[in-house]
Amino acid sequence: MYVRDTIAAVSTPPGNGGIGIIRVSGDMAAMVGNAIFKPVYDGGLVSHRFSFGTIFDPTSGESVDEAMAVYMRSPRSYTREDVLELHCHGGWLVVERVLALVLSRGIRLADPGEFTRRAFLNGRIDLIQAEAVMDIIASKSESALQLAQSQREGALSKRIDDVRGYLLRALALVEAYIDFPDDDLGATDIAAISASVEEAQGLVSALLATFEEGRILRDGISVLIVGKPNAGKSSLLNRLLNENRAIVTHIPGTTRDIIEETITFEGLSVRLLDTAGIRHTDDLVEQEGISRALGKIPLADLVLAVFDASREFSKEDQMIFDALDGCRTIAVLNKADLDQRLILPDEDRFEATVRIAALSGYGIDLLKHTVCQQFLHSTTADSRELVVLSRARHRDALVSAEQHLQRFTNGLLDRNLELLALDLRGALQAVGSVTGQTTTDDVLDLIFSSFCIGK
Ligand code: GDP
Repeated sequence: MYVRDTIAAVSTPPGNGGIGIIRVSGDMAAMVGNAIFKPVYDGGLVSHRFSFGTIFDPTSGESVDEAMAVYMRSPRSYTREDVLELHCHGGWLVVERVLALVLSRGIRLADPGEFTRRAFLNGRIDLIQAEAVMDIIASKSESALQLAQSQREGALSKRIDDVRGYLLRALALVEAYIDFPDDDLGATDIAAISASVEEAQGLVSALLATFEEGRILRDGISVLIVGKPNAGKSSLLNRLLNENRAIVTHIPGTTRDIIEETITFEGLSVRLLDTAGIRHTDDLVEQEGISRALGKIPLADLVLAVFDASREFSKEDQMIFDALDGCRTIAVLNKADLDQRLILPDEDRFEATVRIAALSGYGIDLLKHTVCQQFLHSTTADSRELVVLSRARHRDALVSAEQHLQRFTNGLLDRNLELLALDLRGALQAVGSVTGQTTTDDVLDLIFSSFCIGK
């Protein structure tokens, strides 16, 4: 339930910084501002104007900090309520003192995500946009950020609204016949209803088809590096990371555990996992490393199979071949600077083959680009233009909508109007939960509780 009390929280991250911002939202915002902030120039707080002055303790009259204050009168604010922001010095103690002063005026500490929740409840943004705000804050790569910005701007919401529009049109027609039971559902109306539902189905399945790509843009990909000992896996990892994170030695079998680093390739977040060299061994520790490496293969979005191109194809290379069955793999032929002896059998089973020399860096840019190409088919242009699903919550809702629509289509011939209306309402409910029109309080609690306090 939405209680219209006034809330406050520190909106800048914990710790010390140049500036700390305390945000207040609700009807008492202006009262608090006038009670604890004294502008240098007379005239009090003017909406949407910054003023410079002093924060003081009204009980003792003591000055607490020099600050800037901005008051934003409803509805032109983040929450659409009256909002006050106090920008003071960013030491944690001073920020805490200012917050305590605000709270002492009878104001409640905000729950996590409560400002954004109010923006949603007051209709300034929908649920997709609220989640996008969270994604903007959490973005770790250019592609994730662009996607989040496009969702905040409403690209996905608009598409979902289109789906709702088609479904509402179909439902209105079906309900018209329910209201006039003597009329038989005519061929023209059946055609109009099916056309609307088909449009909705088309949009839903097109959106569902984007989920994999959206997930990758948002969360990035995991790339596993495998190969026999001494193929050059660690050298490749170092080259990709531009530092000496993995240990490179001449003794085969030195990278025994899995090394994990996250970097970005062309704006895409890539989690790189370097594994133990794969070979036959009697060493138990090494065997453990190898079985861990093999176990990771099916979990990775992509495998880089590193081969030493200066040596002939060996039994160990064959082991890797066998382990990679069915995985999306790029063959990386390393040591291009040496005499080339490797002949890869069945080269077509790889998505691509790239020649590199991990030591000199030859071929590394091409390899990065080839990795990205595997995932960013339609998107490299500009992910801001994109309308893609990137959250499992949205995908699950649309899968449920799709099932309702399938039932609707199956039942169309029977012409049981009540059942048809039920299926359409089910689909509308599912679609509406994406944008938040039909989301229950429990789900909202779950979504907003993963926000930080002050957002
Ligand atoms: P790993 O066991 O697969 O991780 O292999 P390393 O990265 O430890 O490399 C094994 C050996 O191959 C080291 O001596 C590297 O210096 C050498 N090496 C790696 N890449 C290249 C390369 O591109 N050219 C040449 N000539 N040697 C390389």
